[in-house]
Amino acid sequence: MLKELIDKFYLEQQRDKAQLHFYITDAGKCQRAVFFKFKQVPREKMDARILRIFEHGEQLHRNIFNILYRLKIGVTTEIAIPAQEIVSGRADAIVCLAGENYVLDVKSINSMIFKKLFSPKEENLCQIQLYLHFFNIKKGILLYIDKDQQDIKEFVVEYDPVLANQLLGGLNDLKTKIESNVVPGALFDYPGNWQCNYCQFRQICDMAGRGELAWDDFQKKIEGVSIGF
Ligand code: SF4
Repeated sequence: MLKELIDKFYLEQQRDKAQLHFYITDAGKCQRAVFFKFKQVPREKMDARILRIFEHGEQLHRNIFNILYRLKIGVTTEIAIPAQEIVSGRADAIVCLAGENYVLDVKSINSMIFKKLFSPKEENLCQIQLYLHFFNIKKGILLYIDKDQQDIKEFVVEYDPVLANQLLGGLNDLKTKIESNVVPGALFDYPGNWQCNYCQFRQICDMAGRGELAWDDFQKKIEGVSIGF
């Protein structure tokens, strides 16, 4: 009854828009999955429950911004990185603490992951490194919120120019593959990598095998494939 209507509402918000440029969140991610997004390869839909979890995460972010403003520390929220050719993105905030600027990235995670979190997650480190790079700020804070228990952990991250340049190199390499229609290889530890567990392209990826391949040939192979497990 009502549940079906609410689920339908969420599912209808979901659109497979073509991706036209890189986002900071693509940094360090599986190149093949990002390639598939650019080429609008059919993907498995997320279920309504996951979409509600994302929405809840956004509300938690807004609560944190609200508190930062009320603390009256120097803070600017949702700042786009300076325009350049390769990537776009918006940092959650830049805060000024004791006269020093920090890029702030807020992440909401479940209790189980939160309890085992003793250092920043790798994919979050990649993202914040690119924010630090483009804002020319030397330090960042990764703030994790346990969305079940409302506990908080924070990690201060120093700018690492080597890592930032490696990530940009990876995006440039992927740009070349997208333009020359070469499907990147699967992750080296596919299908055991955590990204494969959550990947909306898993079914299509299985059809591609592990290595690089020509997009023109593969596109013909996946024509008419219906997605779903
Ligand atoms: S299943 Fe794994 S290797 Fe394949 S596209 Fe998804 S994340 Fe990449």
